Amino acid sequence: MKTHVQVAVIGGGVVGCSVLYHLTKLGWKDVVLVERAELTAGSTWHAAGGFHTLNADTNMAALQGYPIRLYKELEEISGQSCGLHHVGGLTIATTPERMDFLRAARAMHRHMGLDTEIVGVDEIARLCPVIDTDGVIGALYDPLDGHLDPAGTTHAYARAARLQGAEIYQHNKVEELVAQPDRSWDVVTEQGTIRAQHVVNAGGLWAREVGAMAGIYLPLQAMEHQYLVSDDIPEVYERDGELPHIMDPGGGTYFRQEGRGLVIGIYEQDCDPWSVDSTPWDFGLELLPDNLDRIAESLEMAYRRYPCLETAGIKKVINGPFTFAPDGNPLVGPVPGLKNYWSACAVMAGFSQGGGVGLTLAEWMVEGEPSRDVFAMDVARFGDYCTKPFTVAKVRENYQHRFAITYPNEELPAGRPLHTTPAYDIWDRQRAVFGSAYGMEHVNYFAPDGEARFESPSFRRSNAFKTVGEECRAVRTAVGINEIHNFGKYEVTGPGAEGWLDIVMAGRLPREGRISLTPMLSESGRLIGDFTVMRQGLERFQLTASYAAQAYHMRWFEAHLPDEGVDISNVSRTRIGFQIAGPNARDLLARVAEADVSNEAFPFLCVRQVAVGGIDAVVARVSYTGDLGYEIYVPENRQAALYDALAGAGSNLGLRPFGMRAMMSLRLEKSFGSWMREYKPDYTPMETGMDRFVNYDKPGFIGRTAALAEKESPPKRRLCSFIVEAGDADVVAWEPIWKDGAVVGYVTSGGYAHFVERSVALGFVPVDMIADGAGFEIEILGEMRRANLFTEPLFDPKGERMRG
Ligand SMILES: Cc1cc2nc3c(=O)[nH]c(=O)nc-3n(C[C@H](O)[C@H](O)[C@H](O)COP(=O)(O)OP(=O)(O)OC[C@H]3O[C@@H](n4cnc5c(N)ncnc54)[C@H](O)[C@@H]3O)c2cc1C
Repeated sequence: MKTHVQVAVIGGGVVGCSVLYHLTKLGWKDVVLVERAELTAGSTWHAAGGFHTLNADTNMAALQGYPIRLYKELEEISGQSCGLHHVGGLTIATTPERMDFLRAARAMHRHMGLDTEIVGVDEIARLCPVIDTDGVIGALYDPLDGHLDPAGTTHAYARAARLQGAEIYQHNKVEELVAQPDRSWDVVTEQGTIRAQHVVNAGGLWAREVGAMAGIYLPLQAMEHQYLVSDDIPEVYERDGELPHIMDPGGGTYFRQEGRGLVIGIYEQDCDPWSVDSTPWDFGLELLPDNLDRIAESLEMAYRRYPCLETAGIKKVINGPFTFAPDGNPLVGPVPGLKNYWSACAVMAGFSQGGGVGLTLAEWMVEGEPSRDVFAMDVARFGDYCTKPFTVAKVRENYQHRFAITYPNEELPAGRPLHTTPAYDIWDRQRAVFGSAYGMEHVNYFAPDGEARFESPSFRRSNAFKTVGEECRAVRTAVGINEIHNFGKYEVTGPGAEGWLDIVMAGRLPREGRISLTPMLSESGRLIGDFTVMRQGLERFQLTASYAAQAYHMRWFEAHLPDEGVDISNVSRTRIGFQIAGPNARDLLARVAEADVSNEAFPFLCVRQVAVGGIDAVVARVSYTGDLGYEIYVPENRQAALYDALAGAGSNLGLRPFGMRAMMSLRLEKSFGSWMREYKPDYTPMETGMDRFVNYDKPGFIGRTAALAEKESPPKRRLCSFIVEAGDADVVAWEPIWKDGAVVGYVTSGGYAHFVERSVALGFVPVDMIADGAGFEIEILGEMRRANLFTEPLFDPKGERMRG
């Protein structure tokens, strides 16, 4: 066994072996894998082996498409068969809502180059003669779906990695991990200690335990899962060719052919988390006891759907555990707070996702960053709010929703409310309908008296539509109030603060008392942050960005912090307050502020320490609504008093609370992009128009070389805005944009802009098609909708309200 290596991968399931292979493929040969028992001895050996590309996140879907090429490559390199069966797959719909969902997925696939199609009942029956199509109204067909041999595939990865220099040590449990001052790790195993520059946790069912060895909690939980294999069935084996996979979300089942019989897998509602406290070390190559009672209802539906099962016996029942993160996507990347410790865990679909996880992690380790935005599986998308009880509640909910329709406006209830501010009770009394992000509750809108405090999940305009419109109009015609708690906020102080910020931020820093906007770039010049910088003193700054990106941004800051001279702290949960916005916002502030707030004394993009209603506050003249507005920050224990002061003074100025739905509508009228929709690591400053905030003359900022190169060779696509002739459904994201019968771009986000009464989409199209008024079509739920490009904001195009 080697004693010094570049990388030690812990865990020889399909994921660890994929990571090992991809590291060697990208050129790191001094890599080893340490396995407690033998390869596949976690959840891998008993998997049903299905693979598919469907995923709500487009980059995840693209990464799930990658193994289909990869498996052929592995077979060629290793000479080991993966046992591939490319049979195609159908996801069937039995309700109009499911059909909408499948049409939206189909539309998204168009610009991803995936060849899925919507098929009718006759075609479903032709492709799968053993199905009873009663109640079925259509399906999405994916020719790439299939299944494979889990053990063969894992060994193909392992053999290919070995052929390229990797070593694998089986029957060798990692007992302990000891961090070294030079960022390396001592990996203490049963067979001795390995000094590794990098450690990868691919511990699967034991990933939490391998996390605990480094002092961290990884938010994942194993669930029990069952599938049945039937005896031989003549209707199956007497056919030429193999049956396709079928997902029947309404029945909670998946189906495929296995030799001469069938496999039926169940995602049941009455589901069980497995081994909540810890995973026993002596578990591995055994199964859990069958529990057919738990899946009886779904089984009955499956027998009705596939009547040939009724006469067949059950050959075996597999009940095994596998792990999930709270949202069902993997946990990949550098673990925040640790050095050279990487996660490749919570991969719930190892044969769809394991290839993409291995590739992504290897790119990150070898090349410094992944080649695409992988936030949907970044371990840093969760923060310290994700405790064990919260994780278990969310994983259970996610398992139950595995086949549920994911609506764009849906708020799932498990584990909530988790974090709230003092304003929560104030909003609650005003009939708020809450949403949640990164563990924090926020108001979506306020339900009128007599209406349910619940927004019905829908792809179309919901029951909140009218009320959100009223909230928007209150902001634009009088003054609105909402919270600013759900921004990520960081305080940067110290003699080195300015110099350091000049390196990590691509834009110009403000002078004292002023505010500036700046992108943050990766080395390759892609957007990794979209910040508002408030300079409150010579050596004191507040950075504001997305609330959900806190762990992601802190990981980047900490990785780039100098040894001394700069302090950074995450103050997101303690620095809270309200924003007031609208034409009466200044009058309202003037009534409660002990300062001159006239435009001359307090212009746009100014930040001041002001007493508001007798409370020491930081007031910033800026508003994401694009209107005259102010953000007022106070300590947490003064928030309720601040509300009373503002509400009392604003009652005869038309003050009305508004929620996030209204906020996201108002920003569309200004064509303001938002983080993870328009601005994310897939995009560059010039593609998104963020180049206007980049200070290209500033030497030494991260990403400058790439940003300058982009100026020399400008991008071929740009972010634009469109007015859509929508029906009762506005765009959400990822809808294809068509011109002259071809897909030329896609939507990043949009919705109904209530004040200007237009349906708006933001999205990318080729530069040579951009002209004010240019006509396009956007496919919404399978229908082509006319869309005209516009180049000036629909509200206040000259910014007079915002600046005046
Ligand atoms: C019933 C069932 C059906 C499934 N069907 C499918 C399917 O059809 N398609 C699909 O894609 N996925 C399916 N899955 C999920 C799939 O099995 C998992 O996604 C996959 O196996 C995860 O692989 P892994 O490598 O992350 O974890 P694991 O397979 O659990 O591997 C982790 C490995 O790490 C080793 N290890 C842990 N700790 C240590 C240590 N301290 N020292 C040394 N070694 C250690 C373990 O021994 C183990 O071998 C199914 C799962 C179940 C339970």
